[in-house]
Amino acid sequence: MARYTGPACKLCRREGTKLFLKGDRCLTGKCALERRNTAPGQHGANTKKLKEYGMQLREKEKTKRYYGVLERQFYNYFKEADRTKGMTGENLICLLERRLDNVVYRMGMAASHKEARQLVLHGHFTLNGKNVNIPSLIVKAGDVVAVKESSRSSEKIKALADALATKTAPKWLDVNKDALSCKVATLPARDDVDFEFNEQLIVELYSK
Ligand code: SF4
Repeated sequence: MARYTGPACKLCRREGTKLFLKGDRCLTGKCALERRNTAPGQHGANTKKLKEYGMQLREKEKTKRYYGVLERQFYNYFKEADRTKGMTGENLICLLERRLDNVVYRMGMAASHKEARQLVLHGHFTLNGKNVNIPSLIVKAGDVVAVKESSRSSEKIKALADALATKTAPKWLDVNKDALSCKVATLPARDDVDFEFNEQLIVELYSK
Protein backbone atom coordinates (compact mmCIF):
# COMPACT_ATOMS: atom_id res chain seq x y z
CA MET A 1 0.00 0.00 0.00
CA ALA A 2 1.32 3.42 -0.96
CA ARG A 3 1.97 5.97 1.72
CA TYR A 4 3.00 9.60 2.06
CA THR A 5 6.78 9.97 2.44
CA GLY A 6 7.16 13.76 2.33
CA PRO A 7 7.84 16.11 5.25
CA ALA A 8 5.41 15.46 8.11
CA CYS A 9 5.44 18.94 9.62
CA LYS A 10 4.34 20.42 6.30
CA LEU A 11 1.08 18.52 6.67
CA CYS A 12 0.40 20.05 10.10
CA ARG A 13 1.17 23.50 8.77
CA ARG A 14 -1.18 22.96 5.84
CA GLU A 15 -3.99 21.88 8.18
CA GLY A 16 -3.13 24.54 10.77
CA THR A 17 -3.25 22.04 13.60
CA LYS A 18 -0.95 19.58 15.32
CA LEU A 19 -1.39 16.11 13.84
CA PHE A 20 1.25 14.56 16.14
CA LEU A 21 3.08 12.84 13.28
CA LYS A 22 6.55 12.99 14.80
CA GLY A 23 6.06 11.46 18.21
CA ASP A 24 7.74 13.11 21.19
CA ARG A 25 9.08 16.01 19.13
CA CYS A 26 5.49 17.23 18.70
CA LEU A 27 5.31 17.88 22.44
CA THR A 28 8.39 20.09 22.53
CA GLY A 29 9.22 23.63 21.44
CA LYS A 30 10.82 22.13 18.32
CA CYS A 31 7.36 21.58 16.82
CA ALA A 32 7.36 23.33 13.45
CA LEU A 33 3.78 24.53 13.93
CA GLU A 34 4.66 26.28 17.15
CA ARG A 35 7.59 28.00 15.51
CA ARG A 36 5.81 28.94 12.26
CA ASN A 37 2.04 28.63 12.25
CA THR A 38 1.42 29.45 8.59
CA ALA A 39 0.58 27.27 5.61
CA PRO A 40 3.65 26.02 3.71
CA GLY A 41 4.80 27.75 0.55
CA GLN A 42 5.72 31.25 -0.58
CA HIS A 43 2.22 32.64 -0.02
CA GLY A 44 1.40 30.52 3.03
CA ALA A 45 1.13 33.50 5.34
CA ASN A 46 -1.53 35.07 3.08
CA THR A 47 -4.01 32.21 3.14
CA LYS A 48 -7.57 33.46 2.58
CA LYS A 49 -10.56 32.54 4.73
CA LEU A 50 -11.94 29.19 3.57
CA LYS A 51 -15.37 28.86 1.98
CA GLU A 52 -17.68 25.93 2.60
CA TYR A 53 -16.06 23.52 0.14
CA GLY A 54 -12.57 24.45 1.32
CA MET A 55 -13.49 23.73 4.93
CA GLN A 56 -14.95 20.35 4.01
CA LEU A 57 -11.89 19.47 1.95
CA ARG A 58 -9.45 20.51 4.68
CA GLU A 59 -11.34 18.46 7.28
CA LYS A 60 -11.11 15.37 5.09
CA GLU A 61 -7.40 15.93 4.45
CA LYS A 62 -6.74 16.53 8.15
CA THR A 63 -8.45 13.27 9.11
CA LYS A 64 -6.67 11.28 6.40
CA ARG A 65 -3.32 12.68 7.43
CA TYR A 66 -3.88 12.15 11.13
CA TYR A 67 -4.52 8.44 10.58
CA GLY A 68 -1.97 8.09 7.74
CA VAL A 69 -4.52 6.89 5.20
CA LEU A 70 -4.51 7.72 1.49
CA GLU A 71 -7.51 8.86 -0.58
CA ARG A 72 -8.80 5.58 -2.02
CA GLN A 73 -8.61 3.73 1.28
CA PHE A 74 -10.20 6.65 3.11
CA TYR A 75 -13.11 6.71 0.68
CA ASN A 76 -13.57 2.97 1.18
CA TYR A 77 -13.79 3.58 4.94
CA PHE A 78 -16.39 6.25 4.26
CA LYS A 79 -18.47 3.87 2.13
CA GLU A 80 -18.32 1.24 4.84
CA ALA A 81 -19.27 3.82 7.48
CA ASP A 82 -22.19 4.88 5.31
CA ARG A 83 -23.42 1.29 5.02
CA THR A 84 -23.24 0.80 8.79
CA LYS A 85 -26.20 1.64 11.01
CA GLY A 86 -25.87 4.96 12.85
CA MET A 87 -24.27 8.32 12.08
CA THR A 88 -21.93 8.03 9.10
CA GLY A 89 -19.38 10.56 10.41
CA GLU A 90 -19.13 8.90 13.81
CA ASN A 91 -18.94 5.46 12.19
CA LEU A 92 -16.07 6.71 10.03
CA ILE A 93 -13.98 7.92 12.97
CA CYS A 94 -14.70 4.76 14.96
CA LEU A 95 -13.68 2.61 11.99
CA LEU A 96 -10.39 4.47 11.63
CA GLU A 97 -9.79 4.04 15.36
CA ARG A 98 -10.08 0.27 14.94
CA ARG A 99 -7.14 0.02 12.54
CA LEU A 100 -4.43 -2.18 13.99
CA ASP A 101 -1.75 0.52 13.71
CA ASN A 102 -4.01 2.93 15.58
CA VAL A 103 -4.57 0.36 18.35
CA VAL A 104 -0.80 -0.02 18.73
CA TYR A 105 -0.51 3.79 18.94
CA ARG A 106 -3.40 4.19 21.38
CA MET A 107 -2.20 1.39 23.67
CA GLY A 108 1.03 3.39 24.02
CA MET A 109 3.48 1.11 22.20
CA ALA A 110 4.36 3.77 19.61
CA ALA A 111 4.95 7.50 19.79
CA SER A 112 3.09 8.23 16.54
CA HIS A 113 0.83 6.59 14.00
CA LYS A 114 3.78 6.39 11.64
CA GLU A 115 5.89 4.49 14.14
CA ALA A 116 2.97 2.19 14.94
CA ARG A 117 2.52 1.42 11.26
CA GLN A 118 6.20 0.61 10.89
CA LEU A 119 6.24 -1.66 13.94
CA VAL A 120 3.26 -3.60 12.59
CA LEU A 121 4.79 -3.83 9.11
CA HIS A 122 7.98 -5.21 10.63
CA GLY A 123 5.97 -7.98 12.27
CA HIS A 124 6.44 -7.04 15.92
CA PHE A 125 2.80 -7.71 16.87
CA THR A 126 0.36 -10.56 17.10
CA LEU A 127 -3.41 -10.44 16.86
CA ASN A 128 -5.14 -13.15 18.91
CA GLY A 129 -1.84 -15.04 19.05
CA LYS A 130 -1.22 -14.98 15.28
CA ASN A 131 1.56 -13.01 13.63
CA VAL A 132 0.27 -10.00 11.70
CA ASN A 133 1.92 -7.36 9.55
CA ILE A 134 -1.04 -5.47 8.06
CA PRO A 135 -1.51 -2.01 9.66
CA SER A 136 -5.00 -1.58 8.17
CA LEU A 137 -6.49 -4.69 9.83
CA ILE A 138 -9.70 -3.75 11.65
CA VAL A 139 -9.91 -5.11 15.20
CA LYS A 140 -13.09 -6.41 16.80
CA ALA A 141 -14.29 -6.39 20.39
CA GLY A 142 -12.47 -9.10 22.31
CA ASP A 143 -9.38 -9.11 20.06
CA VAL A 144 -6.00 -9.17 21.78
CA VAL A 145 -3.05 -7.28 20.31
CA ALA A 146 0.35 -8.12 21.79
CA VAL A 147 4.04 -7.62 21.17
CA LYS A 148 5.47 -10.77 19.58
CA GLU A 149 7.49 -12.89 22.00
CA SER A 150 10.61 -12.87 19.84
CA SER A 151 10.49 -9.05 19.49
CA ARG A 152 10.61 -8.36 23.22
CA SER A 153 14.39 -8.56 23.41
CA SER A 154 14.89 -5.88 20.75
CA GLU A 155 16.27 -2.57 22.04
CA LYS A 156 13.57 -0.62 20.23
CA ILE A 157 10.74 -2.61 21.83
CA LYS A 158 12.41 -2.41 25.25
CA ALA A 159 12.56 1.38 25.02
CA LEU A 160 8.91 1.55 23.94
CA ALA A 161 7.93 -0.81 26.78
CA ASP A 162 9.65 1.53 29.27
CA ALA A 163 7.74 4.49 27.84
CA LEU A 164 4.49 2.51 28.04
CA ALA A 165 4.59 2.71 31.83
CA THR A 166 3.92 6.45 31.69
CA LYS A 167 1.10 6.34 29.14
CA THR A 168 -2.66 6.14 29.54
CA ALA A 169 -4.78 4.25 27.04
CA PRO A 170 -8.39 5.10 26.16
CA LYS A 171 -10.99 3.16 28.10
CA TRP A 172 -11.99 0.94 25.17
CA LEU A 173 -8.54 -0.69 25.38
CA ASP A 174 -7.65 -2.86 28.33
CA VAL A 175 -3.84 -2.65 28.43
CA ASN A 176 -1.66 -5.11 30.31
CA LYS A 177 1.61 -3.20 30.64
CA ASP A 178 3.55 -6.18 32.00
CA ALA A 179 2.45 -8.48 29.19
CA LEU A 180 2.82 -5.71 26.55
CA SER A 181 -0.63 -6.54 25.29
CA CYS A 182 -4.06 -5.02 25.11
CA LYS A 183 -7.56 -6.37 24.75
CA VAL A 184 -10.21 -4.49 22.80
CA ALA A 185 -12.69 -4.28 25.68
CA THR A 186 -15.41 -2.63 23.59
CA LEU A 187 -15.57 -0.97 20.21
CA PRO A 188 -14.55 2.69 20.41
CA ALA A 189 -17.31 5.29 20.65
CA ARG A 190 -16.98 8.76 19.17
CA ASP A 191 -16.52 10.25 22.65
CA ASP A 192 -13.46 8.05 23.19
CA VAL A 193 -11.53 9.94 20.50
CA ASP A 194 -10.07 13.08 21.99
CA PHE A 195 -8.65 14.51 18.76
CA GLU A 196 -10.82 17.27 17.32
CA PHE A 197 -12.58 16.28 14.09
CA ASN A 198 -15.65 17.77 12.46
CA GLU A 199 -16.67 14.56 10.71
CA GLN A 200 -19.95 16.10 9.53
CA LEU A 201 -17.94 18.23 7.07
CA ILE A 202 -16.48 15.04 5.55
CA VAL A 203 -19.95 13.54 5.18
CA GLU A 204 -21.14 16.73 3.46
CA LEU A 205 -18.14 16.68 1.11
CA TYR A 206 -18.72 13.10 -0.02
CA SER A 207 -22.48 13.65 -0.27
CA LYS A 208 -22.18 16.31 -2.99
FE1 SF4 B 1 3.15 18.37 13.44
FE2 SF4 B 1 4.66 17.09 15.18
FE3 SF4 B 1 5.80 18.48 13.19
FE4 SF4 B 1 4.60 19.73 15.23
S1 SF4 B 1 6.46 18.45 15.32
S2 SF4 B 1 4.37 20.23 13.09
S3 SF4 B 1 2.86 18.35 15.65
S4 SF4 B 1 4.50 16.64 13.00
